[in-house]
Amino acid sequence: MKALVYYDIGIKKWEEKEQPEILKKSDAVVKILKTTICGTDLHIMNGCVPTVTKGRILGHEGIGVIESIGSSVTNFKEGDKVLISCITSCGKCEFCKKSFFGHCSDGGWILGNTIDGCQAEYVRIPHADNSLYHIPNNIDMESLVMLSDILPTGLEVGVMEGKIKFGSTIAIIGAGPVGLAALMTSQFYSPSKIIMVDLDENRLEISKSLGANVTINNKNGTAVEEILNLTDGKGVDVAIEAIGTPPGWYICEDIVCAGGNIAMLGVHGKAVTLHLERMWKKNFTLTAGLVHTSTIPMLMKAIINGKIDPKKLISHHFKLSEMENAYHVFKNAAEYKALKVMITNDLI
Ligand code: ZN
Ligand code: ZN
Repeated sequence: MKALVYYDIGIKKWEEKEQPEILKKSDAVVKILKTTICGTDLHIMNGCVPTVTKGRILGHEGIGVIESIGSSVTNFKEGDKVLISCITSCGKCEFCKKSFFGHCSDGGWILGNTIDGCQAEYVRIPHADNSLYHIPNNIDMESLVMLSDILPTGLEVGVMEGKIKFGSTIAIIGAGPVGLAALMTSQFYSPSKIIMVDLDENRLEISKSLGANVTINNKNGTAVEEILNLTDGKGVDVAIEAIGTPPGWYICEDIVCAGGNIAMLGVHGKAVTLHLERMWKKNFTLTAGLVHTSTIPMLMKAIINGKIDPKKLISHHFKLSEMENAYHVFKNAAEYKALKVMITNDLI
């Protein structure tokens, strides 16, 4: 089969690989129908995720059809259409028992990280019963790809960990796909003001169409000042960092109000300073961590009932064989006005 393989910082190849097989009886092999590229894949290509080693097939998002199953898989059969969670979970360990799937002792974020991932014609999914979801008939397939990672991540790690409530003022730093997913899902809780910050005017325009009340282009570094002006000098109740760089963190430190929350969505590869010398008295809460994807079933219902339309996050379509071009467009997002790229297997 063909797959997108990581070799080294900045080096990847679209090449022939062995088709995956069932290795354990709880595995399924899934023929990919649609997949996408995540900001995390760009972090990997920049060398910021050292667990990814040479020869690894990237990708942790997608939908597909079950090609074969191990003998102990009971929830699925060959031919079932499935959504792949970016998080693999056994459903049995101590962490899984408390729905902390991101930290499953035999799973977590392993796809396209420590085992081969979804940017391929086929992928092996361990613990298939707990890591795959049946696809309902009456749902838009491309919207579903947004449920493998970015929608649950925006909701669980940004909105829910950030404790957004009715009437909260919020600022989301970074209007990339995950920041926009947080923007979409924050509206389940009816915040009173949503401020989006980015450097890309196109992404800020999209933010407005997805429900942002105020957008700020931080090209002159004025975001902190503008957000304080918009909140009577107090700052926002919830600051969500959705870039994964030190500047994103420093903005959040300066704009969170006393008693507020900072929720980190970004995948950070560089150290930052926590300025405790001025932050200690803020009574703020900082959260960061992996998604568990336990909200996938709820988000499916929200799509079916028209509460959210994640398809709006898709900007480009490619075939799987055009994967290298898809990476080029996604990496140069501002130039191509790119958000999520939808990639369809040539084999279907
Ligand atoms: Zn991702
Ligand atoms: Zn587990």
